[in-house]
Amino acid sequence: MGILAGKRALIVGVATERSIAWGIAEAMHAQGAELAFSYAPMFKDRVEPLAASIGSKLLMPLDVQIDEQIDATFAMLKSEWGALDILVHAVAFAPREALSGSFSANTSREAFRIAHDVSSYSFTALARGAAPLMEGRAGALLTLSYLGAERSLPSYNVMGLAKASLEANVRFLAADLGPRNIRVNAISAGPIKTLAAAGIGGFRRILAHVAQVAPMRRNVSTQDVGNAATFLCSDMAAGVTGEILYVDNGYSTVGMSFEGAGD
Ligand code: NAD
Repeated sequence: MGILAGKRALIVGVATERSIAWGIAEAMHAQGAELAFSYAPMFKDRVEPLAASIGSKLLMPLDVQIDEQIDATFAMLKSEWGALDILVHAVAFAPREALSGSFSANTSREAFRIAHDVSSYSFTALARGAAPLMEGRAGALLTLSYLGAERSLPSYNVMGLAKASLEANVRFLAADLGPRNIRVNAISAGPIKTLAAAGIGGFRRILAHVAQVAPMRRNVSTQDVGNAATFLCSDMAAGVTGEILYVDNGYSTVGMSFEGAGD
């Protein structure tokens, strides 16, 4: 029996089979979870066959910038399932022009607003919708962050600020929802080639650098993230909340490349 047997999870953020959210969905499915998916309207045709491939029947459109769609998502889950155990939030967006070049020159007020709305506020809004469905159960909320929350990196720019906000969101939601037996955590994933990542200027250079410098000398896969996500959302992690777990092959722990040093 899998560690998520009997659990029901909503996965928000699958766009393609390369999405981190899809890696998480596959890992959770393998551990016995029953899954529902939401999709940004433009990805309907890509998400439908993926959901069908693991026997998932609950699928709904959700633009996280629209409150009515958030309400409709949880209303649908309430009528179909009556309860929810796990929410995975794997959503981020910033206008493309804000994700390259000079941070100060390219961060408009509007780009700042959109990045924070879609990439951080949406987690608060989804938590508010999910919490009533987790009443009387052991709930788990999970989001996805990146090192840019804590350190400056080329091109990541305003998304780094949005991820810093998201990580604070994790801690405040954990404090708020802990008394209702709901845990809230994030995975700070190493770089992975996905649609969202393709929007970040010079992303290939980041991948090559990490593969050279990280202790494990490779990049992480969506399966690596999916397995850690499955643990965090299972009862095996019942004592873990408010945590940012790095799944990055150790890259964030290194101060300087050991490649060629000390020879
Ligand atoms: P992805 O492009 O596969 O997923 C991003 C998702 O965000 C898509 O499903 C897209 O539909 C969704 N989205 C964007 N705007 C939306 C909106 N208004 N409403 C609803 N959904 C919306 O890319 P990914 O890399 O799998 O990204 C998932 C998460 O992982 C993001 O939070 C990203 O910042 C984070 N992350 C990615 C990496 C990486 O290197 N790829 C590393 C660390 C963290």
